Amino acid sequence: TIADARAAASKDNLRSPICCILGHVDTGKTKLLDKIRQTNVQEGEAGGITQQIGATYFPVEALEKKTAVVNTDGSFNFKIPGLLVIDTPGHESFTNLRSRGSSLCNIAILVVDIMHGLEPQTLESMRLLRDRKTPFIVALNKIDRLYGWKQIANNGFRESLAMQNKGVQNEFADRLEKTKIAFAEQGFNSEVFYENKSMARNVSLVPTSAHTGEGIPDMLKLITQLTQERMAGQLMYITEVECTVLEVKVIEGLGTTIDVVITNGRLKEGDRIVLCGTEGPIATNIRALLTPAEMKELRVKSAYVHNKEVKAALGVKITANGLENAIAGSRLLLVKEDDDEEELMDDVMSDLENLLSKISTSGRGVTVQASTLGSLEALLEFLKQMKIPVGSISIGNVHRRDVITASTMLEKHKQYAVMLCFDVKVDKEAQAYADEVGVKIFTADIIYHLFDQFTKHMAEIAAQKKEESKMLAVFPCILNPIQVFNKTNPIVVGVDVMDGALRVNTPIAAVKINSVTGAKEVIPMGRIEGNNQPTYGRQLEDKMVLYSHISRASIDTLKEFYRDEVTKEEWNLIAKHLKGLFDVV
Ligand code: GDP
Repeated sequence: TIADARAAASKDNLRSPICCILGHVDTGKTKLLDKIRQTNVQEGEAGGITQQIGATYFPVEALEKKTAVVNTDGSFNFKIPGLLVIDTPGHESFTNLRSRGSSLCNIAILVVDIMHGLEPQTLESMRLLRDRKTPFIVALNKIDRLYGWKQIANNGFRESLAMQNKGVQNEFADRLEKTKIAFAEQGFNSEVFYENKSMARNVSLVPTSAHTGEGIPDMLKLITQLTQERMAGQLMYITEVECTVLEVKVIEGLGTTIDVVITNGRLKEGDRIVLCGTEGPIATNIRALLTPAEMKELRVKSAYVHNKEVKAALGVKITANGLENAIAGSRLLLVKEDDDEEELMDDVMSDLENLLSKISTSGRGVTVQASTLGSLEALLEFLKQMKIPVGSISIGNVHRRDVITASTMLEKHKQYAVMLCFDVKVDKEAQAYADEVGVKIFTADIIYHLFDQFTKHMAEIAAQKKEESKMLAVFPCILNPIQVFNKTNPIVVGVDVMDGALRVNTPIAAVKINSVTGAKEVIPMGRIEGNNQPTYGRQLEDKMVLYSHISRASIDTLKEFYRDEVTKEEWNLIAKHLKGLFDVV
């Protein structure tokens, strides 16, 4: 094809796809990465695998070497120049980062522990992948834990499976089937990779072991295949600069630096760049482009190598003035000679402004804080679905001033004096201040855990309010005194409950109606156990009917907290009899 010809003509100008690894904690993401990176001693050099900032680069030579056992006849052709794997584990939120509108991550490996199946974070990752339309494969990891598994290091999976005894093969088939059903329940068709006829329609499942290396050659071949099938040829040419900030870090001697991934184009020392900041757009010049020093270079004083120019795809650390308020997840734009810097500033800030527009207009709601623009967006989307109102948002670790913002809810909407924090740290001073004023801080690495914590918090508040309202709730009743045992302080009177139900804490009153003028006199008798009571023979007559003493507030309390406990007859008694008696409107 033409694309092939062009690729052959200028291999230098091809860019490598970006791959993210995600999945539940402990499924083996880190271990898998370590295993792929590992230099095979027999094969000598790993073929230029380079550790970058927040990423590892695998040139095509390394991919070819590592997939050789499953490509013995050489029939599989590599067209990509290499693969950049984002390797900061625990940062699922990267999947939601953008560079120029599309997802930062071109393809993904979702790691699932074959012994555990789909776990909560797996589901969350799947939602993100679906929303972003990111093609992915599934590594069904830890196959060496199948009982009785016999290993051959770094083997192709099918060859290894063929060697296992029937029991192991059956257990594998069983777990594979269960996994496929679980995926189907989430709306994904899946097939074990060697039976998958269409990668566009079915997710490929590739069994792996990060311990023995089995299945890893298949995994690398599949991810390459998926890229080549799903990414158009021209997408892989280096064109305009596309770059995304992964992390903002303070480094001793360098000040505030940003770790970025360049997904397209080139950056040079001295280039003018624009990015998103908490206090408005940041425009600055690149002072240095740093990549980690290789082992042999570690003798030199710095842990970094300076680069005059870097090109996609690459993870690199940028030093520059004025990066203090930079926002992780922000796009980074290059200001070229003819560009209007102001325009680029507006463009870059629009990502943050879009999120700000999702805050409830009344300003009433919880405070939400997340590590990056991408994770904040995912969290806001989730809270919207869950109908939790958001009052303010912020990016980065939680400081005292963030708690102050959240504390504005304390006075009028105490239930929203809550901070939902995703993948960020809370500094000590902030936590102490929150404890002091009564702001609740919930932190989690899984978005829906925040929802669980918030729901629990709301239930606690409701229970507390119900408890506080106990004295206000008045159930209706009408009582007929039979005999007065003690005239006052305390009144002790035997009654018949004529209507409704008499409960502890119910305030009782008699009502005297002047037979001539019709004027009403309500005589409250205090609580069932009270003092300063009226006296039988003085204010109270012997045979006076007694009533539970209702009010507007007591009815509202019943409605809010005791709806389930009040019968239809009791509502009737209140409405038809007591309301009129006590002139409640
Ligand atoms: P992560 O949280 O997803 O990065 O998981 P890790 O890579 O830290 O692995 C979690 C645990 O599972 C560690 O104890 C690993 O040694 C173990 N582990 C990871 N992969 C495998 C595997 O393929 N087989 C076995 N038996 N253990 C594994």
